[in-house]
Amino acid sequence: MLAEIIAIGSELTSGAKLDTNSQWLSLQLAELGISVQFHSTVADDLQSNIDLLKSAAARVDLILVTGGLGPTLDDLTRQAIAGFTDVELVEDFESMEHLEGFFVARGREMPERNRIQAMFPAGSTPIENPVGTAPGIWLEIPRAGKSPCVIAAMPGVPSEMRKMYHEQVKPRLPGGEVVIRRSRINCFGIGESATEEILGELTARGSTPEVGITAHEATITMRINAQGKNEAECLQQIETASQVIHGKLGDYVFGVEDEELEDVIVRELIRLNKSFATIEHATAGLIAQRIAHAVQTDECGSSECYKGGTVAVSSSMSLEQEAQALLDSSHADYILAVGPEAVRTNGSSRLVSEIPVLLIGRNVHTETLLSWTGNPAITKIRSAKSALDLLRHELMKLS
Ligand code: ATP
Repeated sequence: MLAEIIAIGSELTSGAKLDTNSQWLSLQLAELGISVQFHSTVADDLQSNIDLLKSAAARVDLILVTGGLGPTLDDLTRQAIAGFTDVELVEDFESMEHLEGFFVARGREMPERNRIQAMFPAGSTPIENPVGTAPGIWLEIPRAGKSPCVIAAMPGVPSEMRKMYHEQVKPRLPGGEVVIRRSRINCFGIGESATEEILGELTARGSTPEVGITAHEATITMRINAQGKNEAECLQQIETASQVIHGKLGDYVFGVEDEELEDVIVRELIRLNKSFATIEHATAGLIAQRIAHAVQTDECGSSECYKGGTVAVSSSMSLEQEAQALLDSSHADYILAVGPEAVRTNGSSRLVSEIPVLLIGRNVHTETLLSWTGNPAITKIRSAKSALDLLRHELMKLS
């Protein structure tokens, strides 16, 4: 079954609002094994809406529409559906009662204009909206030799749309015969193309399960999409792929799902009863910020693992001296120090940003010089993550 999602509203086509409904609905349909072929966004213009519905009905079996169900003159979804199927709008008695009740309950008189919300294209069925005034519209368009093309129109307001989808639309959709489960594995310290090369066949198009690679601020994420007859089958596929990924990428793998480097570090420090403090020049407090957030959100919630840090602009001491002084005064087991950035030009006239990182502890002394030629916008975050990764590797030696 192929689907199209249509987002209606001039506030979307003008760029004033971002269409988040289509993204959310696509994820929902994927769970039912329904493949979304098109996302279309259309302004509040009747003829454009009619034309779009016509072309959508010619290419897919299911059309989910959001927006344009309100009472104002620019809300044209019901007229567009009626226009495209060439039927009249007719009043639905129950919807009118619900609408009147909605206003009575709020002690307000119903504006005449709202009556349009109880009008439906002939042959369609209202979809109840317990939280707003606008019912949705369900319509099945017969097609010769095929099952009907289904149109479900829902309100634009995301919370109303989601409730209506879950409670009213999803149960009426075919599906359930395919179960989809997803999992993510996060890596750091390796590039996207190197990851792809190492994983080889696993990331090939059409393989089962599907494994995609994405990169965000130097974190590489393997997205496993499993499809099967039941949940157990999906989980088995995910388990097999995870084992291959762990086997091939080893210590580059640091976490799963939403886990960030700092979450893993906080958890490990708490488990090992260790602590650290930071000195940050080039990263300007990014490490401290991320660690503080991880400490707040960690279930064990122990702030003991982080003894705080300094954000340095300049210093008369060397990074080594600064780190040693903090190690002596802070009672932390480790000091993670990020030095100032130095920019130079390399042989091919590209700017190279160099940042020293130092990790010291009682019997630990590791230093490295980070060297970035890529996008300067992510230099700070990349450096912060690289420094955290240095600490992660040190903690792994204790496990
Ligand atoms: P209402 O009864 O509120 O008029 P409606 O069905 O007519 O509902 P719209 O008027 O089109 O919906 O949109 C209402 C609000 O919902 C918009 O101002 C916008 O904030 C939000 N909205 C609409 N469509 C989307 C979308 N595709 N993604 C995210 N938000 C949306």
